Amino acid sequence: MNTLKDRLLTDNEISPLIISADKVAHVQMNNPLQHALLVLIKSGYTAIPVLDSSFRLRGMISKSLILDSLLGDEDFELDRLSTLTVSDSMMQDVPCIRPDAPFSKALSLSINHPFLCVVDENQSFSGILTRRSILALISKYLHQPSK
Ligand code: AMP
Repeated sequence: MNTLKDRLLTDNEISPLIISADKVAHVQMNNPLQHALLVLIKSGYTAIPVLDSSFRLRGMISKSLILDSLLGDEDFELDRLSTLTVSDSMMQDVPCIRPDAPFSKALSLSINHPFLCVVDENQSFSGILTRRSILALISKYLHQPSK
């Protein structure tokens, strides 16, 4: 009889769980902050990846980072939405994983991050892995009859 642990470790690659880059909402570093805020609001996501023109991962931008950048001494300074760019506000330290990483690594990283960016050794972006898809796989195995 296979335990849940056995099943998760046998299915050892994360690649089937990756949301491919063409389905991931993203912005570029030189986009005005206003554009990033629009993409975040329209997509409903809290945070999205920031890529460069060669599709390499450069950071992550979120609604809270944008609000933080708009905060002046006393008020929100909305003109900064057009004067600042994504690179002024983005976070560069982004949780990443390789496409051939084992499931156990993705599971550990996803404890602290709602999504991980999937990149190769050149930071070339191939998609994201969400905590939701990891939990869905664990739930599937947990509820499947044992072999
Ligand atoms: P979810 O598990 O679907 O709620 O997604 C968790 C987080 O992953 C979202 O809040 C976004 O930050 C990010 N995310 C999920 N799907 C996408 C997508 N298609 N494009 C960009 N970001 C996404």
